[in-house]
Amino acid sequence: MKIQHIEDIINMQDEVLEISEIEKMIYDNKVLKVYETKYTNKLYCLVMKSLTHEVYNEENIAKETFERIISHLEELNNILGRDVGLLVATLDYLQNIIKTLDEPKIIEEDKSDVLLESSTIDELTTLYLRDIFDITVKKRVDESNRTKSPLSLIMMDIDDFKIINDTYGHQRGDFVLKEIGEVINLSIREMDMAARYGGEEFAILMPNTELNTAIEIAERIRTSIKNIDFIDFNVSVSIGVSRTDNSISSDRDLIESADFCLYQAKNKGKDRVESNEKNV
Ligand code: GH3
Ligand code: MG
Ligand code: MG
Repeated sequence: MKIQHIEDIINMQDEVLEISEIEKMIYDNKVLKVYETKYTNKLYCLVMKSLTHEVYNEENIAKETFERIISHLEELNNILGRDVGLLVATLDYLQNIIKTLDEPKIIEEDKSDVLLESSTIDELTTLYLRDIFDITVKKRVDESNRTKSPLSLIMMDIDDFKIINDTYGHQRGDFVLKEIGEVINLSIREMDMAARYGGEEFAILMPNTELNTAIEIAERIRTSIKNIDFIDFNVSVSIGVSRTDNSISSDRDLIESADFCLYQAKNKGKDRVESNEKNV
């Protein structure tokens, strides 16, 4: 990457760095150099402020903390076998490893009431928990608005899950959730983020993804789940897919739109994918 080009991608006026900018810094030494020059003796305070919204005054302490977060990120990635991302690693490190944040304040202004639970991953499905997902949706919607890039969201709900629980027992129900979590993890790409959104609801956030691609992925997931052989039964899911556009420009809009499409999928007979295509 040429230095000139690197300068283009850095928003110098912003006193808060985007997660994506910080990630570029970690993975590209030339980018790091540009930032170190631009923010001499205050880069890591700025990085830590951007990540936690806490004020860091001592550059050497901020740098040390950031370096530990990077090590923690690598460790988490190794354990989980995928990239958990800088945001998750930061929160997990500060909240669960060194326990510095009583009430971690995360990135955006309206985050003060966000309390991170003791973990970021749902044990049964190995998907992200809803809290961390909600924070990420907000962040990604802001990025999508700023960079005018498409952001798609899949919302999914198991069909007639109550019947499965009632007929085969709660434990078999739990096994269904586990298997679905696995299918989702295998179906998404590195840049996507999947969460257990509710008891038997799932959400997948797809940055830089057009609606038709998201629909294709949703269809693939729907088919894969239907093909899981639970020996004496099969399971289907209904899916709603939405994409940011002129009328969908907040996290709430995006989630409501996908939810509405999911509701339509249920109403039209379940086991299908519906999207907000007509609006795009
Ligand atoms: P629909 O097709 O309309 O979605 O019907 P449904 O039966 O799936 O929906 P409903 O909301 O009536 O029931 C959802 C069920 O999911 C009820 C609840 O017991 C079950 N459930 C939620 N969380 C869990 C869980 O962690 N494990 C198990 N086994 N069941 C769960
Ligand atoms: Mg439900
Ligand atoms: Mg259901």
